[in-house]
Amino acid sequence: MFENLSERLGGVFDRLTKQGALSEDDVRTALREVRVALLEADVSLPVARQFIKAVEKKATGAAVTKSVTPGQQVVKIVHDELIAVLAGEGEPGALRIDSPPAPILMVGLQGGGKTTTTAKLARRLKERDHKKVLMASLDVNRPAAMEQLEILGKQIGVDTLPIVKGEDPVAIAKRAKTQAALGGYDVYMLDTAGRLSIDEELMAQVEAVRDVANPRETLLVVDGLTGQDAVHTAENFDSRIGITGVVLTRMDGDGRGGAALSMRAVTGKPIKFVGLGEKMDALETFEPDRVAGRILG
Ligand code: GDP
Repeated sequence: MFENLSERLGGVFDRLTKQGALSEDDVRTALREVRVALLEADVSLPVARQFIKAVEKKATGAAVTKSVTPGQQVVKIVHDELIAVLAGEGEPGALRIDSPPAPILMVGLQGGGKTTTTAKLARRLKERDHKKVLMASLDVNRPAAMEQLEILGKQIGVDTLPIVKGEDPVAIAKRAKTQAALGGYDVYMLDTAGRLSIDEELMAQVEAVRDVANPRETLLVVDGLTGQDAVHTAENFDSRIGITGVVLTRMDGDGRGGAALSMRAVTGKPIKFVGLGEKMDALETFEPDRVAGRILG
């Protein structure tokens, strides 16, 4: 992930650190290149502008340009600012899943990786946090999606709510809640239906499910390769449903990485996890400092 962005920025900063003395103009020129690299990586214009402004303010003072290693100091300022843009509050990847059974609502568009991520997260909760997890698919229009979750459940050893034909999503959510309480589950995950685009019917359905489940976490799963579209999807879901975090999938691909940078700045919601492949263990906590390091090469 971030290959293109880090290549571009790596080049800019290599030159900067090799230079001895730096004038304020040198710094500004380098930051112009950083701005172009960010835009090319599909970071939104206001976010790129704000980022450069913040860095420029800190990096063009005499304390930096007249220091012994001005280039390295500028790189450090960029690094710290990247973390500030990427990081949310609290521990990365932390979920509010106290008071069992804690509901987690999984939302997103079709094909974004929602069902796969539901299972990956269930596996992580089971293996890492030793939680007893129940998963339920609410995608009543796509029987294949319901079966897919069941198959993944068997594969990772996590229970799924038995499929009952003809039930609507709200009824399934209620049954999951009852089953989770009766079965002594710590967490139950509701994998909601997705559509190819955001529409009223989808939103109304997810809203109705949210109202009966009263989720502790509502995680939006979006394809990280879709750049600005991922950010718009997040804005939409957040304003209608209210999300507590984002999972960016397909970050193993050669995406431009811009979605990660814009996501937090635009939506104010943290990226909690990233998907790094199709396998069940390909889910990682989103760590801003590691990502910042990777971007700078
Ligand atoms: P849904 O329609 O949102 O539930 O999407 P699915 O979970 O069915 O995922 C759609 C496709 O994307 C499947 O083939 C998944 O294996 C794949 N996928 C999901 N997450 C990732 C990821 O992080 N990386 C890659 N490379 N593929 C993923």
